Amino acid sequence: MPARTTRGILDRLKSGVVLGAEGYVFELERRGYIKAGPYVPEVVLDSPDALRELHREFLRAGADVMVALTYYAHRGKLKDVGRENDLEAMNRQAVRIANEVAREGDALVAGDICNTWAYDPKNKDASSRVVRAMYEEQLSWAVEEGIDFVIAETNDYLGEALIALEVIKGLKLPAMVTLASTRPHQTWDGYDYVDACKILADHGADIVGMNCDRGPATMMPIIEQVRSRVSGYIAMQPVPYKTEAAMPTFESLKSADGTNIFPIALEPFLCTRFEMADYARRAQALGVNYIGICCGGGPHYVRAMAEALGRTVPASKYSPAIELHPMIGAQVEEKEKEFLVDWKG
Ligand SMILES: [Zn+2]
Repeated sequence: MPARTTRGILDRLKSGVVLGAEGYVFELERRGYIKAGPYVPEVVLDSPDALRELHREFLRAGADVMVALTYYAHRGKLKDVGRENDLEAMNRQAVRIANEVAREGDALVAGDICNTWAYDPKNKDASSRVVRAMYEEQLSWAVEEGIDFVIAETNDYLGEALIALEVIKGLKLPAMVTLASTRPHQTWDGYDYVDACKILADHGADIVGMNCDRGPATMMPIIEQVRSRVSGYIAMQPVPYKTEAAMPTFESLKSADGTNIFPIALEPFLCTRFEMADYARRAQALGVNYIGICCGGGPHYVRAMAEALGRTVPASKYSPAIELHPMIGAQVEEKEKEFLVDWKG
């Protein structure tokens, strides 16, 4: 196997923005390899080529990190779908596949852990032991298969995020810890999001910030405050949906008739690639260090974001050349253009 990449995450952040890409579970659900609802990444064992392909597409689009698809590959979730016996195999294979594809380019491999749904602040000691054991087993397999750092993400509780951080630091790996933000201002255990990021950074998290739930428009105001309070590296991985003040998260988006559309009828609210490129530029200007995307993300967004950050990536070979389009391109005869306008009414 070729040598592992030489520059680690902290090294890369020191010299500039690191571009992240996530949304594997949502995208592989759309492609027919993961069941919406439980969202357990069964694709890892059932259709590994589909996962390999999506990693490769994100790599070609410019992602600097291959995030192993171990999101929700934890004991609690696997039990929900009757696959607890596949726990170790699923975790190991996800990291192995991320490594295979990372080596096709110069990407890092991140181990990934997330909210467990087992943490309970009312029963903190006992539930913390359960959560810690879940993180320890997942990350021990990940470390054996080879990872460069760990992302602990969509943390609803600061308390649970701190357990993840302790486990990661115990393994002597760089830790990126990001919060979910389903509530207006606070984590589920009552910490203001900005304070929670500061506390995580003070406890030794190398990168802190937010991921998932919010689109760029409603995540940016919180990240601006995080930037002003945290001197270390910060991360932002919004969902590519047009959230707004009245509906700040994609879970709260509703259609015109008031129907809930999360999680599988969100398409009317998707951002364009131009909007995601604009977000990447604004995040860079603000001083966000790890700029990425979460659920709903796809390779076209990542390429647009990479190019907005001034990069040319492998998939840039096929970046749009709309001037060559036969109906709306620059060389179209005037009379044909008139026809188009007429036809559109
Ligand atoms: Zn997400």
